[in-house]
Amino acid sequence: MASNLRRPLLAGNWKMNLTLAQSVELAKLVAGGANSASGEVAVFVPATAITVVGEILKGTGVRLGAQNGHFEASGAYTGEISMPMIADAGCAMVLIGHSERRKLFGDTDAWINKKLGAALKAGLTPVVCVGETLEERESQKTWRVLETQVAEGLKGFAPADLAKVVIAYEPVWAIGTGKTATPAQAQEAHLFIRAQLKKIHGDGFAAGTRILYGGSVTAENVDSLMAQADVDGALVGGASLKKDFLRIMGFQKA
Ligand code: PEP
Repeated sequence: MASNLRRPLLAGNWKMNLTLAQSVELAKLVAGGANSASGEVAVFVPATAITVVGEILKGTGVRLGAQNGHFEASGAYTGEISMPMIADAGCAMVLIGHSERRKLFGDTDAWINKKLGAALKAGLTPVVCVGETLEERESQKTWRVLETQVAEGLKGFAPADLAKVVIAYEPVWAIGTGKTATPAQAQEAHLFIRAQLKKIHGDGFAAGTRILYGGSVTAENVDSLMAQADVDGALVGGASLKKDFLRIMGFQKA
């Protein structure tokens, strides 16, 4: 039974897409659908679009997020942006440890843990992404991978520090591939992750933490995924760039 604290969250990850003009157009579309959404809505936009999209989302309740941030507050880190800079630009949220960051940019669990600390210090709501690769799933390593990513990512924080944290379960084999996890696979993994959260900080923490599913979520499969007891929302890549996201925002929980 979902806790009242677990208000559904429908989040779009725009990745490295869209010009400013296209970002404005999409932000207006999302803002226009905010009133009929079935939960909280967030968009994780390219750094270049944060301020313009922020202007459009003002007063709509749609939360603005960045896709990554460095763990240092400032300094000689050419090409990076810091968590305080992200907050200063108007973001309320930040993605941490997306599988593309882990795979293509070398984000380790230790870095993710440091980024989490920096995000919390900056007052941001962090969405920590975890998930196994196809090879790991096929060699029966899924649970070990998820256990390590959750434990190492959240290590060293008090429960009160982690009150705002959101976890996103994103099986790497389902991201951008059109191969969605079945609702049963998603539920099984979410339940496992919730058990890991319980190990870290007990029942209350586990019951109150939102766990999103991500990986080829579409307008067609969102309802069956959201019908699962431990699926508290969706992190959506490809379909968040289209009108389909409005349907995802308005999912119908069975
Ligand atoms: C993502 O990038 O977080 C994602 C889930 O992408 P897609 O929905 O395209 O699989």
